[in-house]
Amino acid sequence: FPVEDIRNFSIIAHVDHGKSTLADRLLELTGTIDKTKKNKQVLDKLQVERERGITVKAQTASLFYSFGGKQYLLNLIDTPGHVDFSYEVSRSLSACQGVLLVVDANEGIQAQTVANFFLAFEAQLSVIPVINKIDLKNADPERVGKQIEKVFDIPSEECIKISAKLGTNVDSVLQAVIERIPPPKVHRENPLKALVFDSTFDQYRGVIANIALFDGVVSKGDKIVSAHTKKAYEVNEVGILNPNEQPTHKLLGFLGLLHMEVFNQRLEQEYNASVILTTPTVPYKAVLSSAKLIKEYKEKEITIINPAQFPEKSKVTEYLEPVVLGTVITPTEYTGKIMALCQARRAIQKNMTFIDENRVMLKYLFPLNEIVVDFYDSLKSLSSGYASFDYEDAGYQTAELVKMDILLNGNMVEELVTVVHREKAYTVGKSICERLKESLPRQLYEIAIQAAVGSKVIARETVKAYRKNVLAKCYGGDITRKMKLLKRQSEGKKKLRKIGNIEIPKDAFIKVLKTQ
Ligand code: GDP
Ligand code: MG
Repeated sequence: FPVEDIRNFSIIAHVDHGKSTLADRLLELTGTIDKTKKNKQVLDKLQVERERGITVKAQTASLFYSFGGKQYLLNLIDTPGHVDFSYEVSRSLSACQGVLLVVDANEGIQAQTVANFFLAFEAQLSVIPVINKIDLKNADPERVGKQIEKVFDIPSEECIKISAKLGTNVDSVLQAVIERIPPPKVHRENPLKALVFDSTFDQYRGVIANIALFDGVVSKGDKIVSAHTKKAYEVNEVGILNPNEQPTHKLLGFLGLLHMEVFNQRLEQEYNASVILTTPTVPYKAVLSSAKLIKEYKEKEITIINPAQFPEKSKVTEYLEPVVLGTVITPTEYTGKIMALCQARRAIQKNMTFIDENRVMLKYLFPLNEIVVDFYDSLKSLSSGYASFDYEDAGYQTAELVKMDILLNGNMVEELVTVVHREKAYTVGKSICERLKESLPRQLYEIAIQAAVGSKVIARETVKAYRKNVLAKCYGGDITRKMKLLKRQSEGKKKLRKIGNIEIPKDAFIKVLKTQ
């Protein structure tokens, strides 16, 4: 294919605005998939995605489309839509020259619409606004067109109004892809330069990399080298994707609760693996206090990835925590409640804009750890589902941090070690203890649940032993028999306690983390 007849594009949208449905229509229109078969969301292949109705993993398809007497190769790179996966969005976008920005004609611009737009804008991609679901009774494409003009500075006339569900006007989307998105700049005569934007492993075929070609050519038999790892590979097969095989994926740490649950479910379903979940933690940093320590760690600033390796106060001049710039878009009536929620999460307000008469866009600087667990759920519930949220990286700020251990009968539970803000230690510790109490099954012996900072216990709960009714058989009479039985029961308890292996059901962790 001549380079000038190739287009690489993505579809970006707030969740549920119709990205997958539009992708299906584009695949049908180009004959990539059969119209007669009921193809629902072909790109959302993973079982877990189907169950949850969200796109988690980027997928790619190559479409052939004839326009103006010429055949074009359109590479559609699907991106995840959910707030927890913005890293995967940026990665997919770096392989594109343009995007379709899909906005629901009824809901209008939402937080992920804004976040995704700016990812595309920063990557200097052409943005084609697409207003979807014009078939809905309450659709107001005019209002949404004005929002797009106000927030993104794109003339509302550039919006393409479609119904992905019914297929209305979808062909003009393909034409716009050809007319408004530039072809990739590939210099075929130069040495090979390509970006791996996704990769999978196949037991029989080896590593399968999805690449965007920048320079040169790649063919079967070529020896290639990863610029990052310097490892060499041989190319066994080259192809384009015209929907392809099921991918598997290794993840980047958990960015949010949904991410964690989805990841866990995928591991179980696809690998039949049982997983121990650890507290989602954000990458804190510590600035070391002495030259000796800096020499020892070979760095001035160390990143604390595992809370168990939190360096003590005496070794550091300050701790740092990651912060993010969050965008909330909400109907105005929830503004007060949302501002209170943000304040409780130590957020600092940066901006407030009305995007139309009854919708407001709020920008806050959040400590990342305040939003990774349940911020999104809280926001949704206090706005009856109407507020939307997304965030982007905003560097680091100084923070008063402490390490908190959770102990069961004096034994530390490694999975539950957390780094918390000093002023929040008590509340978080108490809440973890309470949640654990609710989710731990009663056992034959008592379980003491403690939260401790250093050697100081700051919260405690107790799971009472269930008492085997050993006296039931003794009808009140024989006192020696009664004593003997009681003694035996307490010995039994001691033994169990000494073995000390308290079984924690895995969903106990999820319950604990959800409400932390
Ligand atoms: P995604 O999360 O952006 O991939 O959104 P989906 O493609 O999964 O669509 C979300 C929901 O909106 C599904 O129930 C679709 O059937 C529905 N939907 C998508 N496009 C349209 C449309 O043009 N009109 C109507 N009425 N519903 C649509
Ligand atoms: Mg989808």
